[in-house]
Amino acid sequence: MNFYPAPVAKLIEELSKLPSIGSKTAQRLAFFILGMPEGEAESLAQSIIEAKQKTKYCSICGNLTDVDPCNICSNTSRDSKVICVVEEPRDVIAMERTREFKGVYHVLQGAISPMEGIGPDDIRIKELLKRLHNSKVDEVIIATNPNVEGEATAMYLSKLIKPFGIKVTRIAHGVPVGGDLEYTDEVTLTKALEGRREI
Ligand SMILES: [Zn+2]
Repeated sequence: MNFYPAPVAKLIEELSKLPSIGSKTAQRLAFFILGMPEGEAESLAQSIIEAKQKTKYCSICGNLTDVDPCNICSNTSRDSKVICVVEEPRDVIAMERTREFKGVYHVLQGAISPMEGIGPDDIRIKELLKRLHNSKVDEVIIATNPNVEGEATAMYLSKLIKPFGIKVTRIAHGVPVGGDLEYTDEVTLTKALEGRREI
């Protein structure tokens, strides 16, 4: 890194913190940015700052939003009696792309993973139970990822929710085992939603 002027070395260092950006790619991106017209580089930097400052988590569902409650929670044409539980905000986008789901969401912001030391208290389970206490809910669809952590989380939630007398379902076939919701195509995800079964 010493070969670079200090500000360039700093830019490369920051870029290489991004996921799937190795040092070679970081260098290539840095030189690309340096070659940009000044206005474009400024607009890139500004958009990072704005995205970071103007987005927050919805106080109801935990999704990323620039207004609180988010557009989904405040949309009266959506069915608030059906809650779809997902791990991450990006999973909400995957579900929304199907255009099939008309209920609301609850974003856990993670999954239970004893291997990584993530327990039930580290994700937004308490918030979900509070929602179930305070409002009339007919069904909770658990759409955590079909991997070990996602399945463990689904089983744990199912045990907690059943005593409420609420129907608990799990999205079913179609989503490849070990796969991520985020990378599942719309048709497959729609089928998985339609084929959900009670757990
Ligand atoms: Zn919301």
